This record gives sequence, structure tokens and C-alpha cells, in this order.
Amino acid sequence: MKKIEKIANIIKEANEKNVLVKDIDVFGYQYTYKTKILGSVNKYWFGEHQVIDYFCPLNSESNNDNRPGTKKTSTQYITVHDTASVAPSAGSLAHAKYVYNGGGGTSWHYSSGSDGIYHQIPDDEVAYHAGDALVVPFSLENTMVKGNDPHPNVTIKDGYYYINREKTVIAAPKVTYKLGSDGLLHYASDGFIQSKKAPNDAKENEECNDPNTTRINDLGVRVDLATNGYYYMGPTYYSSGYQYISNRGGNLNSIGIETMVHEGSDLYLTWQKTAKLVAHLLVQNNLLPDRVKQHHFFSGKDCPMTLRHANLWDKFIELVNTEYDVLVLSKDIKIEFECQSPYVDKTGRVIKLPEKEEKIKYNVIIKDKEEEIKLELESIIKG
Ligand SMILES: [Zn+2]
Repeated sequence: MKKIEKIANIIKEANEKNVLVKDIDVFGYQYTYKTKILGSVNKYWFGEHQVIDYFCPLNSESNNDNRPGTKKTSTQYITVHDTASVAPSAGSLAHAKYVYNGGGGTSWHYSSGSDGIYHQIPDDEVAYHAGDALVVPFSLENTMVKGNDPHPNVTIKDGYYYINREKTVIAAPKVTYKLGSDGLLHYASDGFIQSKKAPNDAKENEECNDPNTTRINDLGVRVDLATNGYYYMGPTYYSSGYQYISNRGGNLNSIGIETMVHEGSDLYLTWQKTAKLVAHLLVQNNLLPDRVKQHHFFSGKDCPMTLRHANLWDKFIELVNTEYDVLVLSKDIKIEFECQSPYVDKTGRVIKLPEKEEKIKYNVIIKDKEEEIKLELESIIKG
């Protein structure tokens, strides 16, 4: 099959028979607000991908401490956050400026919102956004369990990980109390000290709650099925702050994207733009879409909170998958969108709700130098 035929099939598959219309809560540390999400006629966004460079200074060239310039050993993940800042002024540029000015010691690679995408830290440098510290380098360890299940079930029993009920040689994280440089006892996972303070009656080196299966974060732990038939696991730890078993590799081995949720912004457009950005980053870093993770995966934090609580994370991943599938095929191929409906903009977005149910007809033209395919598609917007 020719590339334009493959793209045509993907875009046909990505047609939204029923456009998403959903009332959601948007969570901020200041307050929560309600908004109505209006989706698009297609999971592919027909808008243009644009990134604005807004690099923050290196620590060595400023009084800041959020860009050490440390090169990553590898890029394993794309980490998606939301800012949980709902103030109308909390847009992308404001966040890019915040990181530029030191970010209170934090940093992330991109700020992505309906008002634009800003690039703040080079993709190959570490940044401070995922809450999993910088103490354990990423590696994959052989579990010594063999199998052929690409998505095996991981459990914990007697202090060890099990994969599809078979015992691995990988120990689950052990939680103890350790003396910090502040002279106080803190929680530690496998000896690595965390910021959370120990209870008053805690004793140094004492072992506390052994994390069990129920404490594994919602997205699970990294397990790869290698070509030699063995399962390999990435490094995990117990995040005492959020009380979840989490994955290392957020700060040291991922590209962090903060998505905007400020009041007055267009959340669905933010997710569309971010999905396109993520697809580009996956391709540039030779990663597949299963390496797109929530901040939650790395610390148990409830982030990106709005997507998680609206049950729209899977929808976001569908957008990412569509963008990725098209991007890998679309070199030297043009994709054009045509629609006469007053309810839809030139990128396929529904911009207002009709009084009653409305059938939207639209065309997508996919062309290379030699030929073109015209798709005639339709979606329904419930009034
Ligand atoms: Zn986050």
C-alpha cells in the first residue's frame, strides 16, 4: 500500500462519529472551575505544529538552580503534567517565564497550551519535574522470568515482584527511616532518603510498611519483554509523599511537558497541540507511544489531574497515537482539511454547539507529488 493510502486509512479510522462534548471540572491549587469540552471531528488535528524557543539560562550563567545542563544517559519517556494553576493569567508564556527565572528550583522541557508551546530546556538535558529525584540511574534488570505477554500482570509478594504469578529476582522497594542532612529522620526507599519526615516515634533504620501490590501506581511499573524471552524491569521506588510504588526515570530520563489548564484557555486545543508535540518527540527520540506517561507514573502524584479526573487520559492517548501514526508516514505529504460548517473551524475543531443534533460533512485531501486522495467523512454533534 502507498503511504498516502495508509494515511487515508488512519484519518478515516480517526473520524469521530460523535464529537466529544463533555462537562468537566478543572482542578487548580487556587480553585476548581467547570468547563464544557468541545472536541473535534477527527482525532487528527489539522492545525500547524509550532514550537517557540524560550530556553532558560544554565545554572553556570545565572543565579538559578533549575538547569544544571546535565546530559541524559538516555531518553525513555515523555512525561505529561498539568500545571494545576487555573488563574486566567497562568498560560504557557507565563510558565516559560517562570522556568526562565529559576522556577523555584523546578524545570521542565515544554510548556504547552492553547496559547502556544514554549521550549525551555533542551530535550537531551535532565530537568526537575517528576518528583523521582536524581539518585538512581535508569537501567533494565533481568527478572529471570520468561514469557510472551507484552503487558504482563505485576504483583508483589513477600517483598518480591511477581510477573504473571511467577517470582522474579527483583525485590520490591523497602521503606526505612534515615537521618537526613537536616538532622531529622526521613522516609527512605531502598536507602534513598526522601523529603517526607518520619513520624515522631520512628527509629533510625527501622523498617516501616512493606509496600504491597495495592500500592503500585495506576499505570504500573515498567516491564519490557526482551527478544531473549525474559522480562526486564526498570527501577522502582516507594514514593512516601504520595504513598505509591513509582518508577524512576522521570527527572533523569524523560522529556517533561507541562500542559496549561488556566481559566479561559481552550483545554481541548491544548490537548491536541500537546498530542502533536508528543508525536514529534516520540519520533525524534525513537520511542513508541507506550512511553508516554503521566507524572503519576513517577511519583504517584495526581497529575495531570484534570485529564485523570475527567477520564480523558485515554482520549489524549488516542490523539497521540493518531498524530504519531500519521507523522511517521507523512514526510513530503500534504494533508488538507475542508469543511463548510459554521460549527467547525479550519482545523476540525467544533467551536460552538448547534441548537439540535447536526451532521457535519468534511473532506480531507491527502496528496504527494504524484497523486491525491480525497476522503469524504461525517461526524455528528449532539445539540
Ligand atoms: Zn506534574
